[in-house]
Amino acid sequence: MRRADNPALEDAAENGNVLAVYILDPAETGGSAPGAASKWWLHHSLVSLNESLGGNLNIFKGEPGAILSKLVKEYGVSKVCWNHSYEPLVMSRDEAVITMLKELGVEVETFNGSLLWDPEEVLKADGTPYKVFTPFFKKGCLNAMAPRKPLKPVNAQFKRDESARSIDELGLLPEIPWDAEFSNHWNVGESEAHRTLKRFIKHGLAHYDEGRNLPAKKYTSRLSPHLHWGEISPNQIWYAVRENVSAEEAYVFCSELGWREFSNSLLFHWPDLPQENLNRKFDAFPWQDDASDLAAWQQGRTGIPLVDAGMRELWRTGFMHNRVRMVAASFLVKNLLIHWRHGADWFWDTLVDADLPNNAASWQWVAGCGADAAPYFRIFNPVTQGKKFDPDGDYIRTYLPELGKLPNKYLFSPWEAPEAVLAEAGIALGKTYPKPIVDLKESRQRALDALATSKDRIPLN
Ligand SMILES: Cc1cc2nc3c(=O)[nH]c(=O)nc-3n(C[C@H](O)[C@H](O)[C@H](O)COP(=O)(O)OP(=O)(O)OC[C@H]3O[C@@H](n4cnc5c(N)ncnc54)[C@H](O)[C@@H]3O)c2cc1C
Repeated sequence: MRRADNPALEDAAENGNVLAVYILDPAETGGSAPGAASKWWLHHSLVSLNESLGGNLNIFKGEPGAILSKLVKEYGVSKVCWNHSYEPLVMSRDEAVITMLKELGVEVETFNGSLLWDPEEVLKADGTPYKVFTPFFKKGCLNAMAPRKPLKPVNAQFKRDESARSIDELGLLPEIPWDAEFSNHWNVGESEAHRTLKRFIKHGLAHYDEGRNLPAKKYTSRLSPHLHWGEISPNQIWYAVRENVSAEEAYVFCSELGWREFSNSLLFHWPDLPQENLNRKFDAFPWQDDASDLAAWQQGRTGIPLVDAGMRELWRTGFMHNRVRMVAASFLVKNLLIHWRHGADWFWDTLVDADLPNNAASWQWVAGCGADAAPYFRIFNPVTQGKKFDPDGDYIRTYLPELGKLPNKYLFSPWEAPEAVLAEAGIALGKTYPKPIVDLKESRQRALDALATSKDRIPLN
C-alpha cells in the first residue's frame, strides 16, 4: 500500500508500463481474511493509494488466478511481480498463482517488502529456527546483514483498466456505522504513516524506553496499522530512527520491531500458530470457555477497570495500548480460563492493526503456551498494573467516564470503595458500573489449580 520503498513496484516500473492491481479475494479464509476493523482501514488505504497513483489503481474482486490470467492475456503482460507475504495460506495461494502464470509464459518475481530479515535466512547454527527472542534478535538478526536501505518513491506510466471496479464496490465499510469514532483517531495512507513516524521521532522516541508502558501517554509510535498494511516499511522506520538517535538509544524501540520479525518467523516455521498451542503440552489444559464471561470481556463490562478501559478503547478506536493488551489478555486466559483463541478471534475482528503473526504469537505468549512465553503461573494483577502504569487514572477515566469522579485510591478496584465514596462519585455498583465478574484472588488460585491438575503435562517455565 505504498509507492516508496516498494521493491515490486520499482521492478515493475523498470520493465515498462505498469498495470497496478489490487484483488480482494472473497474466498480468503482461515485467519487471512480481514476482520471488520481491518476492512475499514483497508478501504481508506485503497482510497489513499489510488489517489497517489493518479486514480490508476485497478480494483478487482474474485479469484486472483482467474483475474490475473485474464489481464495477462488482454494486455500481453510480460512480467508479474508483488511483495510476498509470509502467512501460510497466502503463500500457498501465491504458489498456485505462480504456477498458473508460468504456464502462460509470464515471468514472475516476488520480493520481501514487509520484513527487515527474511525468516528463511534467520536460523540457528544448526539450521533450525529460533524459539527464544533474545538470541533470535541479537545473534540471528543483528549479526546478519544490515537491513536493505529504503528505496525512493516510484514514478511509472500507470495504465487504467476499464473493467476495474470502484473501491466502494468492495463493500469494505460497515453497514451499521460503528466506526463513527475511528476517523477521529486515525489518518490512513502512506503520507499519514510518514507523518506519524515523524511525530513519534520528535515527541515519543526520547521517552520510549520508560514511557511505552504508560497507556495514557502518547509515547509509542502507533505505527502498527500502517506497518500491517504496508503503508510504511520496517526498513523506512529502522533507518529514520537510526538517523535521529544512536543505535544504543534506538535499541529498545528497534527490538520491538524485532518482536514483529520474531512473530513472523514463528508463523513461517510453525504455520499452525494461529490455531494450535506451540507448546502442545498445553493441549491438556482445562479451559472453561464461559460464554457470558466472554461477552462481558468483549464489551468491557467485567467490573475490573483496567481491563474494561482497554476493551472499550479497542471497541471505540480499533486499538489498544500494548501494556493493556497484555493485562486484558491475561485476565481472559487466566482469571476467566477462556481459551486464548477466543481472545485472538475478538482482537482479529476489532483491531485496525490485526496482524496474523503478531496476534497469534502475542496471545500464545500471554497464555504461556507460545515461544519464549511468560510462564503460565505469572498472572498479571490488573489492580497493581493500573496503579503502576496509569497512576493518575487518566487512561481509565478516558474510557470509563462513569468512574470519572472516583478518587484514585479506589479507581482500580471500585468494589473496595466504601458506599459513601461510591455514592459521592455517583456510582451504584451493579447498576452504573458492573461488580467484578470474578474475584481476582480466587480466580488467580483457580488458574493455578487448573495448571496443577495438568502439571505433569505442562512445564512451569
Ligand atoms: C494479546 C496481544 C495481541 C496483539 N495483537 C497484535 C496484532 O494483531 N497486531 C500487531 O501489530 N500487534 C499486536 N500486538 C503487539 C503490540 O501490542 C502492538 O504491536 C503495539 O501495541 C502497537 O502499538 P505501536 O505501534 O504504538 O507500538 P510501538 O511500541 O511503537 O512499536 C513499534 C512497532 O513494533 C511492533 N511491535 C511492538 N510491540 C510488539 C510485540 N509485542 N509483538 C510484535 N510486534 C510488536 C509493531 O509493529 C509496532 O507498530 C499484540 C499484543 C498482545 C499482548
